[in-house]
Amino acid sequence: KLFNEVQELKGNIRVYCRVRPFLPGQDGKSTAVDYIGENGEILISNPSKQGKDGYRMFKFNKIFNTHVSQAEVFSDIQPLIRSVLDGFNVCIFAYGQTGSGKTYTMSGPGKSKEDWGVNYRALNDLFDISLKRRNTFSYEVEVQMVEIYNEQVRDLLSNDIAQKRLGIWSTSQPNGLVVPDASLIPVKSTSDVLDLMEIGQANRAVGSTALNERSSRSHSILTVHVRGLDVKNGSASRGCLHLIDLAGSERVERSEATGDRLKEAQHINKSLSALGDVIFALAQKNAHVPYRNSKLTQVLQSSLGGQAKTLMFVQINPDVESCSETISTLKFAERVS
Ligand code: ADP
Ligand code: MG
Repeated sequence: KLFNEVQELKGNIRVYCRVRPFLPGQDGKSTAVDYIGENGEILISNPSKQGKDGYRMFKFNKIFNTHVSQAEVFSDIQPLIRSVLDGFNVCIFAYGQTGSGKTYTMSGPGKSKEDWGVNYRALNDLFDISLKRRNTFSYEVEVQMVEIYNEQVRDLLSNDIAQKRLGIWSTSQPNGLVVPDASLIPVKSTSDVLDLMEIGQANRAVGSTALNERSSRSHSILTVHVRGLDVKNGSASRGCLHLIDLAGSERVERSEATGDRLKEAQHINKSLSALGDVIFALAQKNAHVPYRNSKLTQVLQSSLGGQAKTLMFVQINPDVESCSETISTLKFAERVS
């Protein structure tokens, strides 16, 4: 309820910043996060700059400090996720440099329940609610999982290893599918989802030598399609939840990258800035929203803008060594918030 009130005041885009803790073995490191305020303020200090140039303050809808648990993060966004049952389209992104906690937030570090990230918790919650409402509503939940790598969309739930490029359709498909050729799998329980995610993760590794490398250079999109039927009056609704673990936002030095690495970096750069431009245009309520500039924004077009709701987690690594990357991450987020 509170969320909806805030939404009405601020439009349909919110930005939450999450600071990951230092990891075991990083104890001696110093932090670039100087201060976190009650109202979403965060002060970053850059030790390589003198005086007031060494500080930069940002403000977001909320900051999750290092100690905030997966359950606490989820409880904050639960109303947003539940709005999918009422027919809303929702996009939740994790943005940040590699190692900043994007996958931790979206999927979690492990399979145990307390580790679960947003995606398992979201589906689990949708199943819970549909069970509670079963006398009045009947819900059908189906998922798709695709990866965008070098501006090509691949099906992560297909048994076909060759996974041809998937086409993106215009947004007006009667069945609401934007990537109609990607496998669409009905799910009935959280354990179905856990199994599918395992397939998706395994497929993400295909064609790459190091899993981490590949996953940090592609965007993965888990899409949850929910169809609801009011059993009393027969009215139907359709909502869609996209959970997006974006490619690492780190800038790659032109001089360091060559060949495939340079091509990947250029594609990532292009799609992240296209995403930033779309969200910025929506936040400004511009008449023209430049969806066509990347596959990422094309796939998400029907769920960005209009009645749709967007949440971006900006993930940051507290290490001073990451300071300039952190500042550029926060500047990106500041522009769209
Ligand atoms: P990314 O997906 O952005 O590359 P990861 O999610 O893989 O980053 O996180 C990098 C490392 O930091 C992993 O070992 C992860 O478990 C850990 N980590 C990230 N966020 C947190 C957190 N909030 N609490 C504890 N560990 C975290
Ligand atoms: Mg990751």
